[in-house]
Amino acid sequence: MVISSPRPQVDPQPRTVTILGSTGSVGCNTLDLIERSLDDYQVVALTAHSSVDLLAEQAGRLRPQLAVIGEQDRYGELKAALSGTGIEVAAGPNALVEAAMRPAEWVMAAIVGAAGLAPTLAAIQRGSIVALANKETLVCAGALMMAEVTRHGAMLLPVDSEHNAIFQVLERERPEVIERIILTASGGPFRDWGRETMAQVTPEQAVAHPIWAMGAKISVDSATMMNKGLELIEAHHLFAMPEAQIEILVHPQSVVHSMVAYVDGSVLAQMGHPDMRTPIAFTLAWPARMAAPVERLDLAAIGELTFEPPDPARFPALRLARQALSAGSGAPTILNAANEVAVHGFLEGALGFLDIAAVVEKTLNALPANAPNTIEDIWELDREARHVARDAAGLPAS
Ligand code: NAD
Ligand code: MG
Repeated sequence: MVISSPRPQVDPQPRTVTILGSTGSVGCNTLDLIERSLDDYQVVALTAHSSVDLLAEQAGRLRPQLAVIGEQDRYGELKAALSGTGIEVAAGPNALVEAAMRPAEWVMAAIVGAAGLAPTLAAIQRGSIVALANKETLVCAGALMMAEVTRHGAMLLPVDSEHNAIFQVLERERPEVIERIILTASGGPFRDWGRETMAQVTPEQAVAHPIWAMGAKISVDSATMMNKGLELIEAHHLFAMPEAQIEILVHPQSVVHSMVAYVDGSVLAQMGHPDMRTPIAFTLAWPARMAAPVERLDLAAIGELTFEPPDPARFPALRLARQALSAGSGAPTILNAANEVAVHGFLEGALGFLDIAAVVEKTLNALPANAPNTIEDIWELDREARHVARDAAGLPAS
């Protein structure tokens, strides 16, 4: 299992940290924890895509060396907003990579989508501790990323609540005693809706998750359950677990964050009030633990925890993700790219909710999934899949 290499106890010096995607939901939760422990952390770089105002405000508070805005033409705005602060300012995709390359012991990868791949890889190649929220990177380039983790002695700590739960209860040194892992899923806002009603779903309804407050893309993924499909592929790479040994179980209360079943019949679960600051805190302080200001779990008040099998007929994304993982080769890269295009189209009002999985399926069927061996192969396949997906969705070429 390549996820872990032994590390010394945390240095008594403040830990140097970089947050890629600091203006997003995971990014803001990460900064919330850091700002409660300012003696323990020193921020090296913060990055965002287009939210200049929020990025400048965060940089003003946390005083990083470097603030990067992904959209090149917003450089002037950010430069003006941070003038006189002594904080370096940069813009564009290469600057995101540069931010990840700055020496920092710990990097939060919280950009959404395959756009996070190059900076995340740059942090891995520096041998950093990488707290990984950006699951799309593992879906589109899992084998390559895990090989780089091993090659550069990096450490990947899962932030996704399910994978963080598994990480906490998995006997990583003895893979032979693990029978299967069980990913729990809230089921999203349409858990018990029929297909006819789901066909009418609006973006506003899809982003309103019943339990978790998250960015728009992952909220739509949770609603289609593609999120659990992406997490299946993520778990496969993180824990070197075959597809057949990863089970998905719908658990609407989202209290049991996931489980590991052992050969002796034991099932170990990690539980907690659903708040991303718990898994983020686990990675931020790792290998120590830090206090997190989250609501404490009150099982007596909750009273009942329920579990049910997922329904792949109403949620075809689950089937597509399993198929892509079994097919291997470039299929997960295609699945991820097509899903990003379709979710974007849905959020823009150009596609219906049920079209999302349909576009992903058409794209998977249309493209031969040649094995991508290099990062360039992955970019090419990602580009091609986006093109085919836009075509399948009837969207104009980008
Ligand atoms: P978000 O949309 O709230 O934030 C995304 C961040 O990435 C923002 O800072 C944005 O500026 C930046 N970004 C977006 N596109 C970019 C681009 N092209 N180039 C550079 N930066 C870009 O998303 P989020 O909910 O915080 O999720 C981030 C990642 O974490 C996703 O991969 C998601 O699946 C994963 N994740 C999120 C949660 C959650 O609770 N929000 C839980 C588990 C996993
Ligand atoms: Mg999750």
